[in-house]
Amino acid sequence: VKPVTRTPGGPVPVISDIPTTEKIVFITIDDGAEKDPAFVRMMKDLKVPVTMFLTDSAVRTDYGYFTPLVAQGHGLANHTLTHPNLRTLSEEGQRREICGQQTKLAQRYGTTPRLFRPPYGNWNEATRAAAGTCGVDAIVLWRESMQIKNMQYQRADRKLHPGDIILAHFRGPSELKGRTMTEMTATMLRRIQEQGFTVARLEDYV
Ligand SMILES: [Zn+2]
Repeated sequence: VKPVTRTPGGPVPVISDIPTTEKIVFITIDDGAEKDPAFVRMMKDLKVPVTMFLTDSAVRTDYGYFTPLVAQGHGLANHTLTHPNLRTLSEEGQRREICGQQTKLAQRYGTTPRLFRPPYGNWNEATRAAAGTCGVDAIVLWRESMQIKNMQYQRADRKLHPGDIILAHFRGPSELKGRTMTEMTATMLRRIQEQGFTVARLEDYV
């Protein structure tokens, strides 16, 4: 039984963590601008599950980059067509962004996403309504965000908690002070391990 489910016809749940007592966390990686081949090789070797929240305007320069990552079993999720602040759009405008990306991802990768993340974490009730009609099972926010070398924590104790969802980005050296996304990911995994946590697959819990 998954701890987070959407009741049929009910509102789409909005989550920043998964209720659990296990020392597990979840890695999510957003947008899709950086396309580092070394990252694909590292993920193949490590077999650590991640969920990719992709924006069409960021991935469209090379859709094929993400195909091996999807084939490795990583989660494919929706992060809109053009990365707008959804709070500035009508419900119909939000629906175009969310349903449009559901369709694009399904056509490109052969799998329809169930999870959605609003750009900048900005959402309102219209987002929930729109996402619900686009077939989204949960709106996924986060508890920590991975920076170049360290995590940024929302809680004052600056620690990982069981079930936390961690945000990272497909970013390149120009945004990471010369480090690659592969190095950033390796550092993130070290930060997770040194606190005694392991990485689980978000789709197994939602
Ligand atoms: Zn984003």
